[in-house]
Amino acid sequence: MTHTVTILGATGSIGRSTTDLLAQHPGRFRIGALVGGRDAAALAKLAREIGADFAALADESQGAALRDALSGTGIANGAGDSAVLEAVARDADIVVAAVSGAAGLRPTHAALRLGRTVALANKESLVCAGDAFMRDAARFKATLLPVDSEHNALAQALGDGRVSDVTKMTITASGGPFRTWTRERIAAASPTEAAAHPTWSMGMKINIDSASLMNKGLELIEAHHLFAIEAERLDVIVHPQSIVHGLITWRDGAVTAGLAMPDMRVPIAHCLGLGDRLTIERGRSLDLAAVGSLTFEAADEARFPCLRIARAALAEGGAAPTVMNAANEIAVAAFIRGEIDFYGIAELVERACEHFAPEYRSAPADVDEALAIDAHVRAWSAKALPSAA
Ligand code: NDP
Ligand code: MG
Repeated sequence: MTHTVTILGATGSIGRSTTDLLAQHPGRFRIGALVGGRDAAALAKLAREIGADFAALADESQGAALRDALSGTGIANGAGDSAVLEAVARDADIVVAAVSGAAGLRPTHAALRLGRTVALANKESLVCAGDAFMRDAARFKATLLPVDSEHNALAQALGDGRVSDVTKMTITASGGPFRTWTRERIAAASPTEAAAHPTWSMGMKINIDSASLMNKGLELIEAHHLFAIEAERLDVIVHPQSIVHGLITWRDGAVTAGLAMPDMRVPIAHCLGLGDRLTIERGRSLDLAAVGSLTFEAADEARFPCLRIARAALAEGGAAPTVMNAANEIAVAAFIRGEIDFYGIAELVERACEHFAPEYRSAPADVDEALAIDAHVRAWSAKALPSAA
């Protein structure tokens, strides 16, 4: 049976891993729509190569460039918000939601409202508006499949088990490039050093979040929503080899874990399989004898304050995660531009959380409210940067 796949964020890191898998399974998949942000040439090239029905760019000003690049191919295309929504509305058996950042909320939510099966990579959807997303997924009978490797591993380890029988869900962190660095050395780290991830190959923003452990914080919030499990039963452990991705501790003492090579194609393949597993190239299968040893250590919140800040936001609930995520996006961008140092990220995020705590107590009721909070906090955070002074 042929399944139609739509990819939001097709030209990104997750998007490329997805198209790579689709290309390896000709006949099993058909590409419905591909959505990109602003890179018309990259989207057009990808659409030509894998043969999409429709290609859409979020940036309306790039519409002419996309049209020119696809002329004569027969691939329908468009640019701007309406084109993105048209892409989402096209028939699909599975929508891979892999836009980066808060920009992913609207298209991902639109897919949920259509009752689609959504392979969710855009963790910001759950971090910024988790209550609304989970409520609407149930209301519109959409299925959410976790792409994030830790959550995918947890889902597989959980199987048909009940979350009420789980005493603890643990996600692993590689520890990032600064795992063994002193606080002083981390404080002086450059964006290039922060982006050099030891085990995973990912986009720039998530690389920086992995170095600060903010990514793990975002993932705790993601797990809280996906599995309807409270903060007290969620944990993080540092595991430098990135082979074990998630562990379920059951109340009878048994532990089940999800293991795989650190390659996003593994969780993506699990989602794309839709119950009928894809065959993955042998080179990527896990050889534990070759790995040798698996080690674990506690996460150090003193050197990685973003993890502490994220845990606090999860415990506080309401709009705290929405505020935290918005400030973090501004702070990470400023760090990449060289405007603030590495610990400047945590400082700005913590200031934003403290500043907005009295104002935003309850969780955003819907995507519009989440995006309004996001925009407000971004504007405030941008003004709080040293470059704005
Ligand atoms: P990338 O930055 O590599 O790719 C982002 C994609 O989104 C690009 O195709 C980009 O297009 C597109 N995009 C950007 N803005 C918009 C917009 N406004 N509308 C539509 N498309 C847009 O990110 P990643 O692939 O690394 O990450 C994607 C998501 O998956 C993130 O939420 C991340 O947290 C999550 N994730 C990623 C993992 C990884 O290994 N990379 C692992 C687990 C989760 P363009 O380049 O043209 O702007
Ligand atoms: Mg992850």
